[in-house]
Amino acid sequence: MFVYHSIGEDASSNFWGNISEEEFHKHVKFFSENKEVVSLNNLKEESRNQRVVLTFDDGLRSYYDTALPILERYELPSTVFVCPFLSWEEESKFKIDHNIKKEGRILMSGREIEKISSLKNVEIGNHTLDHQNLRYVHEHKDLKKQIVESKSQIERTCGIRVKSFSFPYGGYNKRSLSMVKRSHDVSVGGGGVLVTDAESMHVLPRCHGHVSIDDIKYYMSYTSHVASKIENTFK
Ligand SMILES: [Zn+2]
Repeated sequence: MFVYHSIGEDASSNFWGNISEEEFHKHVKFFSENKEVVSLNNLKEESRNQRVVLTFDDGLRSYYDTALPILERYELPSTVFVCPFLSWEEESKFKIDHNIKKEGRILMSGREIEKISSLKNVEIGNHTLDHQNLRYVHEHKDLKKQIVESKSQIERTCGIRVKSFSFPYGGYNKRSLSMVKRSHDVSVGGGGVLVTDAESMHVLPRCHGHVSIDDIKYYMSYTSHVASKIENTFK
């Protein structure tokens, strides 16, 4: 499972997690021709293939402008995790740290999210109200706002059911994790490794997508090699 942030942002802005449009297109073409790309919610279904799940954090405008048109062309599913407070109320700039010192990244507006939420291959997920690290949130009422109310806000506004959750910064504690488990079917974190066991469907690890296509190929061939080795051992 891969996590992307921005696609094709101005390179001089030095945004962390950015990947050029050209490189992203190579990823999509490779996945489409060589792998089974499934939506996050279909991950639970059994398969013997090495599958790919594409996720996008923060609900950035470049998902809407740049990534989505490419994904639509190849008819690939993706999940975009949004922060309703930031997208609907603030609507313009994303100023949290992510090592961004300058002006901030532009988010999709609430309206744009509503628009894409009806697309067949787009799933909208919850990324807390305003991008909190849930590792440091302990009060029940605060957690409820960030997890449960954030989810309801997306559902109410878009008229959809929200099933998935992405932990900002991959951070969680016991309380936040248990609340997410009760309110969402699936949740994702960081970790940088491939998913080998999706049994629990919570805090599933993700690899950074903002790497070169060669890194992606190497990574995936390496793991399938390991997987086939393990399989052969059991034959
Ligand atoms: Zn984020």
